[in-house]
Amino acid sequence: MSKEITSRSEDYSKWYNDLVIKGELADYSAVRGCMVIKPYGFALWENMRDVLDNMFKQTGHVNAYFPLFVPKSLFEAEEKNAEGFAKECAVVTHYRLKADPEHKGKLIVDPEAKLEEELVVRPTSEAIIWSTYKTWIQSYRDLPLLINQWANVVRWEMRTRLFLRTAEFLWQEGHTAHATREEAVEEAVKMLHVYGDFVEQYMAVPVIRGVKSESERFAGAVDTYCIEALMQDGKALQAGTSHFLGQNFAKAFDVKFSDKQNKLDYVWATSWGVSTRLIGGLVMAHSDDEGLILPPKIAPIQLVIVPICKGEEQKAKIDAVIVPLMDRLKAKGVRVKYDDSDNQRPGWKFAEYEKKGVPLRMAIGLRDLENGQAELARRDTREKSTYSLEGFDDKVVELLADIQVSIFNKAKAFQQENITKVDTWEDFVRLLDEKPGFLSAHWDGTADTEEKIKELTKATIRCIPLDNPQEEGKCILTGKPSTQRVLFARAY
Ligand code: AMP
Repeated sequence: MSKEITSRSEDYSKWYNDLVIKGELADYSAVRGCMVIKPYGFALWENMRDVLDNMFKQTGHVNAYFPLFVPKSLFEAEEKNAEGFAKECAVVTHYRLKADPEHKGKLIVDPEAKLEEELVVRPTSEAIIWSTYKTWIQSYRDLPLLINQWANVVRWEMRTRLFLRTAEFLWQEGHTAHATREEAVEEAVKMLHVYGDFVEQYMAVPVIRGVKSESERFAGAVDTYCIEALMQDGKALQAGTSHFLGQNFAKAFDVKFSDKQNKLDYVWATSWGVSTRLIGGLVMAHSDDEGLILPPKIAPIQLVIVPICKGEEQKAKIDAVIVPLMDRLKAKGVRVKYDDSDNQRPGWKFAEYEKKGVPLRMAIGLRDLENGQAELARRDTREKSTYSLEGFDDKVVELLADIQVSIFNKAKAFQQENITKVDTWEDFVRLLDEKPGFLSAHWDGTADTEEKIKELTKATIRCIPLDNPQEEGKCILTGKPSTQRVLFARAY
């Protein structure tokens, strides 16, 4: 069979694109920077979304929906946020097209249909949401307000990449309002841990939980907490962010509440989001040169069953065993597909489901049937074993759980091996090429030094880990005193 997927060692970027396209997660579209999420990719997103949505509800949040368009005057209200996002905004200026008098069959923008006020297509929704919160919040009794929205946003990114960075992407954005600073900080950290737990426990991707330096902070935030994941090429990926917004948006939109003593104060805020970028991170963290490797907990198909037989009669014999087995598996919550299509050979199907990252494959032929057994192949290790058909459903459940743990452990070991303490500039520069990953190094705490390091090496401060120990040291670049190490990496 021709090698359809470029190997990682040959061209990592191309490998990634091959997996996304040939694994049928997404397709390019007619719109620059925008992609089509295909049914298989969308099923994966739905599984992720369902788990996250449940986690948000368990932590007291409710869903709502706000408009796609933000009037420019509202968008401008929080200056830093507006300034930060301005260069990536798509803007609606007109609301009508009309027939082009000079070219039959063509349309032009109707100059008479110019909007009085331009509308910004939301790159993030703080502005539209806080302009609404003003009417919802009057007293401490209205707080906390714990709202999440599942939506699409548009950021006119210049360099795009399937899932990882697209001009339009799907995400959720939580926007909460609180009576005290402490409560808002607690919320921002809590949601960071919700993200961390989700990515580690469901996506099987280990992350570092930390806080961003000033220059990497979300525009308009007081603090940005983040989870950082490591890809197989040693580059980091910011996988989720949770912002403590202080009173910045409350001040911009004049949102005050009266406390129990009837004293007026501005409301405290957070916002937090994860996007379809997570799918890109998932692909890059686990997959191999044969295709995707999806963690069982969120895989659209957890087990595929491929019958090996000829003709109706043989097929009927296999069906007689598989149909009741499928019922037992479904009763146990296993997402199972019986691929009994007769237009492809079993070998083709094997390769196809490997490419799509289905965690387990069952193959069963007539001889297996006679012996009361069938073969199971794991996608992660590509190991094959034969198991008795009796108790087969339990074996599937057991193996799925084992695969989930194994791929996490493998990724965790990789992450640990690729966090390197560095104490000299020479080592720092050398290791970025020789052994990319997180470099744990001292930094003098200034934005200038951070910028300079970025200019010289393309490495940025990914985060200051939350549980960072204090340690006396000297800045990797300037030699000035430092009290803690921070994590540098080149990043997506
Ligand atoms: P932010 O609002 O900038 O904190 O981003 C919220 C989430 O969206 C983060 O998890 C980002 O990783 C993700 N994200 C930001 N820009 C993009 C993009 N162009 N495509 C996909 N995801 C993005």
